[in-house]
Amino acid sequence: MDNIKKPKKPFIFYYVIVFVAIILFNALVMPKIAESKIKDVDYGTFMSMTENKQIDKVEVQYNQILFTDLEGKVVYRTGVMNDPNLTDRLYAAGAKFTSEIIEESSPILSFLLSWILPFLMFWALGHFLSKQLMKKAGGSNSMMFNMGNSNAKVYVKSSNGIRFADVAGEDEAKENLSEIVDYLNNPGKYTEIGASMPKGILLVGPPGTGKTMLAKAVAGESNVPFFSMSGSEFVEMFVGMGASKVRDLFKQAKEKAPCIVFIDEIDAIGQKREGRIGGNDEREQTLNQLLTEMDGFEGNNGVIILAATNRPETLDPALTRPGRFDRRVPVELPDLKGREEILKVHAKKIRVDADVDFLRIARMASGASGAELANMVNEAALRAVRAGRKVVTQEDLEESIEVVIAGYQKKNAILTDKEKMVVAYHEIGHALVAAKQTASAPVQKITIVPRTSGALGYTMQVEEGNHYLMTKEEIENKIATLAGGRAAEEIAVGAITTGASNDIEQATKLARSMITRFGMSENFGMVAMETVTNQYLGGDTSLTCSAETQAEIDRLVVSLVKKQYEKAKQILCSNRSKLDDLAKYLYQNETITGDEFMHILEA
Ligand code: ADP
Ligand code: ZN
Repeated sequence: MDNIKKPKKPFIFYYVIVFVAIILFNALVMPKIAESKIKDVDYGTFMSMTENKQIDKVEVQYNQILFTDLEGKVVYRTGVMNDPNLTDRLYAAGAKFTSEIIEESSPILSFLLSWILPFLMFWALGHFLSKQLMKKAGGSNSMMFNMGNSNAKVYVKSSNGIRFADVAGEDEAKENLSEIVDYLNNPGKYTEIGASMPKGILLVGPPGTGKTMLAKAVAGESNVPFFSMSGSEFVEMFVGMGASKVRDLFKQAKEKAPCIVFIDEIDAIGQKREGRIGGNDEREQTLNQLLTEMDGFEGNNGVIILAATNRPETLDPALTRPGRFDRRVPVELPDLKGREEILKVHAKKIRVDADVDFLRIARMASGASGAELANMVNEAALRAVRAGRKVVTQEDLEESIEVVIAGYQKKNAILTDKEKMVVAYHEIGHALVAAKQTASAPVQKITIVPRTSGALGYTMQVEEGNHYLMTKEEIENKIATLAGGRAAEEIAVGAITTGASNDIEQATKLARSMITRFGMSENFGMVAMETVTNQYLGGDTSLTCSAETQAEIDRLVVSLVKKQYEKAKQILCSNRSKLDDLAKYLYQNETITGDEFMHILEA
C-alpha cells in the first residue's frame, strides 16, 4: 500500500536548482567574503612600505597589486601604476613574490565553505519547505499518495463483534443469512456436493432497519474479517478513482478470504445506466469494474459480498442478474413483536424499572424503525438523568416516543387561548370521528403541547396487532378521520385554519391510491393508473395514463374526499355535546388518554 512511486522529474529539477544556486553563491557571495579581509591603500603607501621593507608577500596582477605586511594578517590592495622598477625595488625590499595571496586560508576550509556549506544549506531549506508543505496539506497529503487505494475499513473479528442475537426481530432475514454463516463455517459440506454460494446478497429495506448490523452479524457469527465501504465513497473524489478503489477492495478481500465485503448504499454506484443523458461516467466505470470483479472470482473462494439499498428498483439489471447480486433479503420495518424485542435489546444497555411494559411502548411506537427505537430508549435514559432518577421508568419511555416522533416539547412556545381552543377541537375532531367509526383504531393519547417539529397537537393512534390488508371501508374511514380535524374546526369555531395541511395531504394521497392503485373506484375498476417507483423511500408514484384520465382521476379524488369530509361533519354534528365536553377537557388538561376519552364519551 505504501509503494509510492517517487516523482522523478521534479527531483532532477531540484538538483539542477541546487547546482545553479551553488554556482551563484560562489560567484557572488564568496568574493564578498574574501574581500572583507582586504584593505585598500593608495600607491604612495605601497611605495613607502616597500621602502621601509614592511612588505612580506606581494602579488602583482594586471589590474591591481595585493600585498601583506610583515605580520601577515591584513591584505592590502592598491592600483597598478606605470612603474618599471617596481619589481626590482620589491626584490630589494625582500618581498616574497606569490600568486595566491588571498588563498592563504586552508584549501580544505575554503572548499568546505564554497561547496559543501551551500549545498547543506539548500538541502536543509528544501527539506524544511517540503515538510511545511506536507503539514499544510495535512490529511489530504496521505490521501494524495493513497489515491487509487480503497480505504475499506477492516473489522477484524473482535470480542465485541455483533452477533445475530444483537439484531432483534428480522427473523426471516436472519434465517436467510444463516446459510451463509454455515457455509463460511464449514465450506467443505457445500463444495462436496458441488453447490456454490451466491456471490452477492442484496439487503433491501428502509433506512435504520438494521441492514448494516445484519452484515456485521454475519461476519461476527462466522468469525471472518469484515470489509465495509459505502457506495458513495467510491464516487466521491477523483474521476477514475472509483474503479481502482473497487479493484483494490477486491484484491484485499481475496487476500483475506474467507471474508465479508459489505457495500452500503449500493444504489449510489449501481443505478440503472440506460436513459441517462450526460450521466455520471465515473459511476458507470465504477459499476463496470464491480461487475467485472464479481464475474472474475469463482463461486467458492470465500468472498461473500453483502450490499444494502433502500431503492432496489433503481439498481441496474446487470447488477441483479444471476451470478451477481442474485439473492435478495428483505429487511422490513419491525412489526409489533419485533419492536418489542428491539426495545428490550436496547433496554439491556440502560437501567430500567422492573415493571416497564415494553409491549405497551412497542404498540405506541407503531411504524418506528430499529434505529428510531434505539434512539427512543436513549432519549428515555437522558430524560431520567435530567429528572435525577437512577432508573428509567415507563413514563420516560412513553414520553421519549413522542420526543422522537414529534420532536421535543416546546416549553416556551406560546399558544394564544383561542389557538389552543382551535387545536383542542381539531384533535378531538380526529379522535371522535375515529372512535365513532367502529372499524378505526381508538386513540391512545392526545396532547396539545406544541412540539419543535411544528405540530401543535399530537394524536397517537394505537394499532392492535398488525394489519396487512385494508378494506375499502377502512380506507374511507381513515380519510374521514383525517377530515375530522378540519370538520371540528368548522363546526365548533366557525372558521377554518392552516392546521389541517398535513391531514389534507394524507387524505388526498389515500384517496388517490384508492383510485389509481387499489382499483377501488367503479369508474376504472381493476386498472392501474399509477406505478410505485420508490417503494422504500416515501413511495413516490408516477402516472401511467392519458391526460384525460388524469383529469378524471382528479375529479374522482375531489369528490371522494368531499364525501368523507361530509361524513365526518355529520358524525361530529350528531355528537356535538360530546365534542364540546372532550375539547374542553383537553383544553384544560392539555393531555387526554384513551381511557379518559372513552370515559367521557360513554358517560
Ligand atoms: P441500516 O443499515 O438498515 O440503515 P443500521 O444497521 O445502521 O441500519 O442500524 C442503525 C442502528 O439502529 C443500529 O446501530 C441499532 O442500534 C439500531 N437497530 C436497527 N435495527 C435493529 C434491530 N433489528 N435490532 C437492534 N437494533 C437495531
Ligand atoms: Zn389534524
